[in-house]
Amino acid sequence: MGKRGIVIAIDGPAGSGKSTTARCVAGRLGYLYLDTGAMYRALGWSMIRRGLSPDDESAAAATAAALAFDFCPEASGQRVLIDGEDVTGEIRSADVSDAASRVAVHAAVRKILVARQQELGFEGGIVLEGRDTGTAVFPEAELKIFLVADVVERARRRHRELLDSGIAAEMDELTGQIRERDKRDTATQRRSGSWPASDAITVDTTGLDVDAQVARVVELARECGVET
Ligand code: C5P
Repeated sequence: MGKRGIVIAIDGPAGSGKSTTARCVAGRLGYLYLDTGAMYRALGWSMIRRGLSPDDESAAAATAAALAFDFCPEASGQRVLIDGEDVTGEIRSADVSDAASRVAVHAAVRKILVARQQELGFEGGIVLEGRDTGTAVFPEAELKIFLVADVVERARRRHRELLDSGIAAEMDELTGQIRERDKRDTATQRRSGSWPASDAITVDTTGLDVDAQVARVVELARECGVET
């Protein structure tokens, strides 16, 4: 166990409920919360803003190395600032989701962002959310959770999330996008190591509400010796 507590890595496909679960678990335990996907999104956003192609590996790596972003925790979530500009809402758009998933395929980009994540979690007491957090980022994490949910349920959740931020979307389109991203992300993760981590505990969130998901993970943390 690190100075500040254990490392909890929460992985899972798009829309499996990992953001909400990870954020709430961190809140319950008084741990730091790190949304690693927001880093790839911040990079995707920066590439679009600079008129660069997310498929250009050397441009993406150079942008990643220079990326100045801040995460500001708030009760309702986490604000993301890039060079002081608040991009919290913008990085959730479909364009940025696509760009994030494209920059994430580059090994040079992953190397830079993974190193930053390791620095932030060095002392423990952290919940990291993201696809490779239990494998490439913290293979020694004391608790690894792999959240899964049915694809239609995941599209429904994304739909609701988007509506909450004032963005209308078609269910069919969202289901298609999620399937597409699943395919690309699975290929990316397979290339960067085994995925999910072989010692991850799978929690199926289809039909579970947020409270039940959080309670389950907190219970697993308790079994790892975390006092709550
Ligand atoms: O989790 P989220 O949907 O915000 O992640 C955005 C994209 O960033 C994912 O589609 C994935 O391609 C990439 N990503 C990644 N490794 C992580 C987190 C996110 O490759 N640890």
